[in-house]
Amino acid sequence: MIIVMKADATAEEIEKVEEKIRSYGYSVREIVGVERKVIGAVGDERGKERLQALESWAGVEEVIPILKPYKLASREVKPDPSVIEIGGVPVGGGHFALFAGPCSVESKDQMFATAKTVKESGANMMRGGAYKPRTSPYSFQGMEEEGLKILSAAKEEFGLPYATEVMNPKEVELVERYADCLQVGARNVQNFSLLKELGKCNKPVLLKRGMATTIKEFLMSAEYILSEGNSRVILCERGIRTFETITRNTLDLCAVPVLKKETHLPVIIDPSHATGHWDLVESMSRAAVAAGADGLMIEVHPDPANAYSDGPQSLKPEKFKALVENIRPFLKLMGQTL
Ligand code: PEP
Ligand code: MN
Repeated sequence: MIIVMKADATAEEIEKVEEKIRSYGYSVREIVGVERKVIGAVGDERGKERLQALESWAGVEEVIPILKPYKLASREVKPDPSVIEIGGVPVGGGHFALFAGPCSVESKDQMFATAKTVKESGANMMRGGAYKPRTSPYSFQGMEEEGLKILSAAKEEFGLPYATEVMNPKEVELVERYADCLQVGARNVQNFSLLKELGKCNKPVLLKRGMATTIKEFLMSAEYILSEGNSRVILCERGIRTFETITRNTLDLCAVPVLKKETHLPVIIDPSHATGHWDLVESMSRAAVAAGADGLMIEVHPDPANAYSDGPQSLKPEKFKALVENIRPFLKLMGQTL
């Protein structure tokens, strides 16, 4: 249920309503909209009739049941788009996020060389994996905390905040200490213990869609994080698995307008994992911007042929530079600032 307060509701009236909601066993999520204050009552749907009675309370405009199964993520609760800050950089609502960096952090030299070039080319955020979810246990598993230290040193040197993956609920606290944004990979989109833990952390979360996750399931995963109190979630479409094998995955571009209709959360596209081939990344980036995406996450490596992971889909620095220039007219058309 959402409780919409009157525009002139006093702080005392709001507090009284919130107290009552809590006394019924619900937790309170304040949703500050542009025009009015809305209170989300989160909890067991049974007994929601009691909340309906709040309609007669001072300061309350109306009490509305949320029809969508994803509640805090839905546009019903918050019609205006959310703007989420990552290390001081706003994302959403016309603020475009361009994450760029290697699939895996491999060394200080590799990360610094990448950070320098992506910054010069116009990226406003870095990416890089320190904990890697690899299909094979014999593949490179990431530099772990050492990798986080390198990412933070690169941020210090080049001034770009970064997103990095966390795979294990037990490692959330450690990754949160270093990273500006915690990434949930496609393979963990329904790791509910991890999502709940991230709901309690104080950093934004970049949630990737799984390769076999419906849009509804994807939004329910976002809801797990939001319902635990973390309202800073960015959604990332990274390709889904279909019968097609020429590309690594199939980019579901439709997910952008569908998600943007359903949710106020920012939606970005990862054309690197979606296509699996570096030469398809630019065209899908232009398409993503044209479809209304709030950002892109792109893999860039100074020497893709020798990358420890995802070399075939990684752009060389000069290709990334060209990509940024080639998406600029599309950004302008779509009213996005980078
Ligand atoms: C990644 O971003 O490095 C990654 C592993 O992506 P995904 O979870 O989308 O496969
Ligand atoms: Mn990768």
